[in-house]
Amino acid sequence: MGSVDLDAVSKIFSGPDGEIKAVQDVDLSIRDGEFVVLVGPSGSGKSTLLRLVAGLESITSGDISLNDESLTGVKPKNRDVAMVFQNYALYPHLTARKNMSFGLKMQGGFSESEIDTQVEEAASIMGIEELLEKMPNELSGGQKQRVALGRAIVRNPEVFLMDEPLSNLDAKLRATMRTEIQELQQNLGVTTIYVTHDQTEAMTMGDRIVVMNQGKVQQIGAPMDTYYKPANQFVAGFIGSPSMNFIPVEARWDEASLTLTHPNFELTFSETFEHIEERQTDDLVLGVRPEDIELRDDPGPNTIDVEIEVVEPLGKEQLFYYELDNGRYTASVEGHRQISVGETVTLQIPEETAYLFDNRNGETIKHQILPADPESTNEVFQ
Ligand code: ADP
Ligand code: MG
Repeated sequence: MGSVDLDAVSKIFSGPDGEIKAVQDVDLSIRDGEFVVLVGPSGSGKSTLLRLVAGLESITSGDISLNDESLTGVKPKNRDVAMVFQNYALYPHLTARKNMSFGLKMQGGFSESEIDTQVEEAASIMGIEELLEKMPNELSGGQKQRVALGRAIVRNPEVFLMDEPLSNLDAKLRATMRTEIQELQQNLGVTTIYVTHDQTEAMTMGDRIVVMNQGKVQQIGAPMDTYYKPANQFVAGFIGSPSMNFIPVEARWDEASLTLTHPNFELTFSETFEHIEERQTDDLVLGVRPEDIELRDDPGPNTIDVEIEVVEPLGKEQLFYYELDNGRYTASVEGHRQISVGETVTLQIPEETAYLFDNRNGETIKHQILPADPESTNEVFQ
């Protein structure tokens, strides 16, 4: 068992320039065995939230419970959680074996041979048996992180708390370790809260993603929901790479259609119109993912002619950049397609894949409609 409940959790630091609201009013229920990823830009309160669960910071208001029992007043070492840090946090003067056994020794109640057995078992899970007698400075970054993960496994905790554990590793190793941590979590079934600023890690690893910004939860959902059905413009811009294009437009609402006007183009939406509930404002932002933009041979309804300014070949795909009314935007096309700087191309923004946001508060007015998910067709975020 390892369910975690956060109830209206806030953390306010007092700094020299006044209060810093690091975490604001967070509600989150994590099921036993679930892998939840907290993702958001630097400073959004992810580490603070994790440290509150670990007991390394005290809560300003609200409550956190583990298996329905409040953790308020429970010391970090009694919380039955194990934390893994970005900088590994190994004791430099202890061997890998001693680093891994340290927690159990402190906890007490285990014989030397019990400790040895548990350390060796964790070492075999992490594939580091041959590293056990080495000192941290004899280990590579990836090996250190394996030892740190092994140390967390040895504790046999209810919950793993991982704060950007892969950020110090190079890209290739990061990808390998990402898969390993996922497999490890699935095999052990231990509830895991994983912090990252990397939306790829969030998308690939989490059962659910919690997107944070400025201490506040922006959306909690399955990875695909945050991509196809972002709750607001922040989530839409944060999830997905390269980022969604945001184009300010003026809306005209008619009986059965919506016309979006921009100095460079006019688009009319009618097929998805019935799925849009909020029709209050004419001040909208059109959101379109670079990968959803299509190239057309000829201009037609809902097309836009743009001049290519920069081309970035990435292999499988290539990105190109263009300007519309002083805004810089991106599109992505197949890698083998012939495109060149200075060329004028005709873009199509398909109605089904377009997003709309209320420019006054960033809330989503229209998101994608997934054919595989009929229930979603009528669902619009409020
Ligand atoms: P993240 O992990 O998402 O990058 P943090 O949780 O580290 O964000 O920080 C959230 C906010 O709280 C930031 O503005 C940060 O400067 C502030 N903060 C974090 N820890 C402290 C502290 N001990 N004292 C004062 N401010 C802090
Ligand atoms: Mg952090």
